[in-house]
Amino acid sequence: MKDFKTDAGNIILNNEAIPVIWEGDVVVAGGGPGGLGAAIAAQRRGASVMLVEANAFLGGMMGYGGGMPLGGAYPGLRTIGGIAEEILTKVRNAGPDKADVRHMPLFGDWYFHDAEYFKSMIAQFVLDMGLKVRLHTWVSDVLMDSQRHACGIIVDSKNGREAILAKVIVDATGDADLVAKAGGRFEKGDDNGDMMGVTIVFNVGGVDTDKFMPYYTTEDPGLVKLIEKAKADGRGPSEDDKFTSIHKGVKPNSLFMNSVRVRGIDGTDADSLTRGELLGRIRVFQELTFLREYAPGCENAYIMNTGSQLGVRDSRRIVGEDYLSMQDCLDLRKRPESVILRCTGPFDNTTRGNSKVYVLNDIDMSAWYDIPYGVVVPKDLDNIVVSGRTFSCHYMALTSSRGQGLMMGLGQAVGTAAVMAARSGAAMKDIDVKELQRQLMEDGCDLGLNG
Ligand SMILES: Cc1cc2nc3c(=O)[nH]c(=O)nc-3n(C[C@H](O)[C@H](O)[C@H](O)COP(=O)(O)OP(=O)(O)OC[C@H]3O[C@@H](n4cnc5c(N)ncnc54)[C@H](O)[C@@H]3O)c2cc1C
Repeated sequence: MKDFKTDAGNIILNNEAIPVIWEGDVVVAGGGPGGLGAAIAAQRRGASVMLVEANAFLGGMMGYGGGMPLGGAYPGLRTIGGIAEEILTKVRNAGPDKADVRHMPLFGDWYFHDAEYFKSMIAQFVLDMGLKVRLHTWVSDVLMDSQRHACGIIVDSKNGREAILAKVIVDATGDADLVAKAGGRFEKGDDNGDMMGVTIVFNVGGVDTDKFMPYYTTEDPGLVKLIEKAKADGRGPSEDDKFTSIHKGVKPNSLFMNSVRVRGIDGTDADSLTRGELLGRIRVFQELTFLREYAPGCENAYIMNTGSQLGVRDSRRIVGEDYLSMQDCLDLRKRPESVILRCTGPFDNTTRGNSKVYVLNDIDMSAWYDIPYGVVVPKDLDNIVVSGRTFSCHYMALTSSRGQGLMMGLGQAVGTAAVMAARSGAAMKDIDVKELQRQLMEDGCDLGLNG
C-alpha cells in the first residue's frame, strides 16, 4: 500500500485518519516461535520492539497446538543454544505434569508439554523482560514508502485501524502475510501448489494407558488392525487420519493425538481455513468415538482439550536472497560464511495432494546441515524480513527444518539482524553476516563454527 500521507500523528489513507500508536526500531508480526525468538533477541540487543499477535495468547503453534512437542533444537545431538535453549530449559524444568522430554529415534529430543503451562510461562517471560506486546490484533497491511521499503504496518483490533511505524518489519505470521502484501515474491506448496494436511491436535483423558500403550506400541502400531475392524463394521475414522503419532500425554491417564489430517486446505485463504476447522472438529469426535469403541483402555476416554485452532504445516515460502534445497539437507551442506542456524530432521509429506507417504527418511541425529542467512531476506524488499516457517526453501526441505525449537533459533538470528539493519540503515540483504554470527555466538548460539 503506497498512497498514504502522514499528518499530526496520523496516517491518512483513503481520507481516513489512522492513529500511529507506536514508532520504533523493530515491529514483529506474529508471536509464534519465529516471532518470539525475533522479538526477544531484538529487545535484548537494545532495540525498541513491539510484538503484535492476532491470538489472545503467545506461542503460535506452541500455544494453540495442544502441546505439540517442541522439536528440532538438538541437531548433532547438541543444543542450538541461545533463546531456544533458555525457553526449553524452562519447559524441561517445569515439572512432570507440565512437560517431559522424550528422545524420539527419528526426531531427536521432543519436549512434550501442557500448552496451558506454556502460554502462562511465556506470558511471564515477556512481562518480566518488559516486551511491548499487543494481542487480539491482526496485522492487515504494510505501509510502503517505496517499492522495496516499508515504513510500518496497519493493524485491526477492537480499537479499529491503527498504524505502527518501524525501521525494520519482521514477518513472523507463519504465512508470509506481510511479504505478500508488500509485493514480495513467494512460492506456495509443492510444484502443483498442494500443501500438507492440516491438524487439530487434541488430548484425550480417562485412558488406561497401561493397557493402551503396550497394545499401540507392540501389538497394533498405527492401530491398523483396529481401523480394519472398524471399517468392516462400516465405522471408523477418516482414511486420511494418521494414527502413527499418538503419544502418552503429560497428564496422567491421557493421550496426545496428532492424528487428524484434513487434505487440501490453504492456510492463506479464510474460506479454506473455515472448511479445515469445521471438518477437523468433526474428525476429533469421530476419532474419540473410534477409540472408545475399539481401543483397549479407551472405553471411558473423553476429550480433555483441543488445539484452539488448526495447525497449518506449510503455506507461503518467500523467494529469498538464498535458498535451502532438499539436496542441501541430504548432503549435510555446511555454509560457514553464512550459517545462522544448524538443523537436522526427517522429511515428511503427510497428506499433501494425493500423497500417502508419511515420514520419508531416517536421519543421522549426530549430523546437521546449515541454514544460511539469506533465506530469511525477501529478494524484492529492503527492510522486511521473515522469521519462522516461511523462509526461502524447497517445500520438502521445510519439512525437515521447521521444528518449533529451531524456529525460535531462526527468530533469534532474524531479530539480531533486524537490530543491525535498524541501527545502520542498511538493507537486510547488506548487513555484515560475520558480525551477525559473532553476536549470535556472544548470545549463546551454537552455529557449529567452532567444530
Ligand atoms: C500439525 C502440526 C504438527 C507439527 N508437529 C511438530 C512437532 O511435533 N514438533 C515441532 O517442533 N514442530 C512441529 N510442527 C511445526 C511447527 O509447529 C511450525 O513449523 C512452527 O510453529 C512455525 O513457527 P512460526 O512462528 O513460523 O508459525 P506459527 O507457530 O504458526 O506462529 C505464527 C503466529 O503468527 C500469528 N499470526 C498469523 N497471521 C497474523 C497476522 N496477520 N497478524 C498477527 N498475527 C498473525 C498467529 O496467530 C501465530 O501466533 C508442526 C506443525 C503443525 C501444523
